[in-house]
Amino acid sequence: MSSKVETRQFQAETRKVLDIVINSLYTERDIFVRELVSNAADALEKFRHLSLTEQPEFDAHVPLEINIDCDDKKHTLTIADTGIGMTAEELETNLGTIAHSGSGNYLEELAEAAKKDVNLIGQFGVGFYSAFMAADKVTVQTRSWDGSEGHEWHSDGGGTYTISPCEGLHRGTRIILELKDDAHEYGQKFTLERIIKQYSTFIPFPVKVDGKKVNTVEAIWTRSKNEITDEEYTEFYKFIGNAIDEPTYRLHFSVDAPLAINALLFVPQENFETMGMGRLQPGVNLYCRKVLIDQHSENILPEWLRFIKGVVDSEDLPLNISRQSLQDNALVMKLRRVITKRFLKYLREEAKKDAEKYQKFWKTFGIFLKEGVTSDFEFQKELAGLLRFESSAADPETMIALDEYVERMKEGQDKIYYINGSSRAAIENGPYVEMFKKKGVEILYTLEPIDDFVLSHLGEYEGKKLVSADSSDLTLPENAASDDAGEETTKDALASEIQDSLCKWMKGILADKVKDVKPSSRLVDSPAMIVNVDGMMTSSMERIMMAQGAPEEQLAMGGKKDMEINPASPLIKKLADLRVKNETFARDVVEQIFDNAMIQAGLLVDPQQMVNRNYRILEQMAENK
Ligand code: ADP
Ligand code: MG
Repeated sequence: MSSKVETRQFQAETRKVLDIVINSLYTERDIFVRELVSNAADALEKFRHLSLTEQPEFDAHVPLEINIDCDDKKHTLTIADTGIGMTAEELETNLGTIAHSGSGNYLEELAEAAKKDVNLIGQFGVGFYSAFMAADKVTVQTRSWDGSEGHEWHSDGGGTYTISPCEGLHRGTRIILELKDDAHEYGQKFTLERIIKQYSTFIPFPVKVDGKKVNTVEAIWTRSKNEITDEEYTEFYKFIGNAIDEPTYRLHFSVDAPLAINALLFVPQENFETMGMGRLQPGVNLYCRKVLIDQHSENILPEWLRFIKGVVDSEDLPLNISRQSLQDNALVMKLRRVITKRFLKYLREEAKKDAEKYQKFWKTFGIFLKEGVTSDFEFQKELAGLLRFESSAADPETMIALDEYVERMKEGQDKIYYINGSSRAAIENGPYVEMFKKKGVEILYTLEPIDDFVLSHLGEYEGKKLVSADSSDLTLPENAASDDAGEETTKDALASEIQDSLCKWMKGILADKVKDVKPSSRLVDSPAMIVNVDGMMTSSMERIMMAQGAPEEQLAMGGKKDMEINPASPLIKKLADLRVKNETFARDVVEQIFDNAMIQAGLLVDPQQMVNRNYRILEQMAENK
C-alpha cells in the first residue's frame, strides 16, 4: 500500500449501523444489489442533470451506464457507474458518516427495528452499508466529474476505513465486493441478472452484466401519453403483467400535487380468479423513480382491485422503505386513496363512453367491485355508481346503473327496489314482482348471491333507500293508470272477517315457522309469499348464510318471516271452505302453501316431509274425483 493511505475511524453511529447491518441476518439479502445499483443510477442522474448547466469537460465522452462484472472464481462482484463520482471529501462524508443520524433516537430506533425485523433497517437510509451483508471487504474507487484526483475507499466493515489516492480512474464510481463465504451466489452472472430484472429493470440507463444489457424494457410510464403508441402500451402490459392478451382498459396518468404520482394501470381480458386459478396476487408494482420498491404490492391499491396490472411510481416515497412499513405508511395510504379514486372515476367515464364495453368488463370483473362495496367503506360511494343489474325495465341483455333507475323513478317513488332470484325467469314468474308489474314500478333483478349483501351494505343511493321486494311492509307508489285493476282484485276477495280468522288459523298451524300470517295487498296471482320482517336480511342473504353453515340462532335473529296470503286467490278462497269441511286435509294444504312459498323465496324446505304431504294431498284429490 502506498504511504498516502490514511486510516480513519467511522463515525460512532456509522459503526453501530454497520454492526447492526452485518450481524443481522438479512432475509432479503438480494436487495443490497438494488441499493448499490440505485446509488449508481442516482449518480448517473446527477451527472446528467449537472451536464445541462455545467458543460463538464473531463471524460465528457464516457457513456452513461452501469457495468456489473462477476467473478465466480475469485468470488467478487463489481458494480461500476460513469456517474458524478466523488471527491476525497465527499467519500469521507458520504461513506464515513450517516447523514440522518443526528436526528432524534435514530440509532435506538434502528437497533430496535433490526431486532424486530431485519427488513426494517432498509428504511433508515443506509443503503450503501448493505454491501456488507454480502461482502467481507468493500472497495470503492471513485473519481469526481470535475476531474480532480481519484481515490479509493476500503473497509472490512470493522471500526475503520482507509482512503488513498487512486490512479487511472475515469469519471464515476466502482464498487468491488469481496463476497462472504455464504454469499458466493452473488458472484454468479445469472443471480445478478435475476435480481436486476426484478428490481432494476426500469432504470433509465443501460445496466450491463458482463457486457450484456439486462434492462431492455423501457419505463414508459414516465413518458408523456401522446408519445406512446398502443403497441408500446400493449408490449409493456404483457411484460409487467406476464400476460399474453391485450388489455381491455388502460389508464395512464400523472399528478404532481398533493403527491407526485406516475401510474399506468391495465385491466386484462380475463378474470383468472373465476376461472379456477385461485386467488389473484395483486398485480401492481410500486416504484420510486423507476426502482422497484414493492412487487405485487398489497398496499398501493385496495385488495379488491387485485385484478389490475401495472405500475405506480412516486418520487415521494423513500427508496429504502420496507414492505412492513409500507403497510402503515401515511404517504402510501394517501397514494392509495388518490389512485383508487382516479381509477374508479376513469371507469365511470369509460362506462359513459361505451356502455356495452363496460358491461362486458362488468360481467368479468364486477365481482371485485362488489367485493369492494362490502369490504371497503371508503370507496362505497364511487363504487355504487359503477354497479350494474338486470332490471324489469330493460331487456335481458342490458344491465343498468342505479343512476338510470333513479332517472326513471315514478313520481312519489322514493325507494329503489330489488329482488334476488336464481334467474330472470324465476323472478318474473315468482310472487314478488306481481305488484311491481301491475303498477309499472321498475325493479332490479339481483341474480348473484352476493348482490343482496352489496345492496344492503350500500343502504341507499342518492338518498333513495334500497329495499328488497321480499321485505314486509312494502308499499308501492300509487299508479293512476292501474288503480281500477287494484280495486277489482279486492272486490272479489274474501270478506275481511274471514280473512282475519283464516290467517289466525293458518298462523296456528305454522306457529314454529312464521312470525305472522297476514293478508297481502301486493299479491296478484300467487296465493302466498314469504316476506322478511325486519328487513335486515333478505331471503337470498339467508340462503348464503345457511350454505355457509351459520348457526341457527343467528339465522333466526336476522330471519323473522311472515307469510302473506292473497285473499283474492281462488286457492285461498277455497281453503277457507275446506277448513270447515275437512280440516285435516286443509292443514296439509296450508303446510304445502307455506313450503311452496319458501321454495319461491329460494329457501330450503324439508324435502321428505314435503313429498309425503304432497302424496297425501294427491291421494285425497284422486279420491274426490
Ligand atoms: P442514500 O442513497 O440514501 O443517500 P446510501 O447509503 O445509499 O444512502 O449512500 C450514501 C451516499 O453515498 C449517497 O447519498 C451518495 O452521495 C454517495 N454514493 C453512494 N454510492 C455512490 C455512487 N455510486 N456514486 C456517487 N456517489 C455515491
Ligand atoms: Mg442509496
